[in-house]
Amino acid sequence: MCWFRNSKEYMDQKEFHNLADQIAEEFTNETSIRLENVAICVEEIPTPEQMQKTGVRHGNMLMGLYEGVPETTWGKGLSITLPDKITLFQTAIEQYAAECAKSIREVIKDVIWHEIAHHKGYDDQELEEMELKRGITG
Ligand SMILES: [Zn+2]
Repeated sequence: MCWFRNSKEYMDQKEFHNLADQIAEEFTNETSIRLENVAICVEEIPTPEQMQKTGVRHGNMLMGLYEGVPETTWGKGLSITLPDKITLFQTAIEQYAAECAKSIREVIKDVIWHEIAHHKGYDDQELEEMELKRGITG
């Protein structure tokens, strides 16, 4: 773990959200995975409820959260589908980017990729293996 405090990027939330939307769109173009019914949200920090939901695994460094029903578990007769939500936590993402000398854009992309994979029904263990293959650690 390393600190690059001086190189820390700060964005206001609107700017951050715009970037996230842009990255989500790029993701759609690159992978042809459609993000229908998925809302991208930005919060500064997780609520206590969200922290609790994710358990100790992600701890204080929770960067993103997928909330919704994974596509693979949708019932056939289900006519009402609530939009899924991917929340990005700006403070943790900025901190992670600074610690690892990555750009915020890079980190958002990794987080969105991860959360979309949850949307597609992968669990964290499967994702960890896939991320290792893609060269993402931590
Ligand atoms: Zn996860």
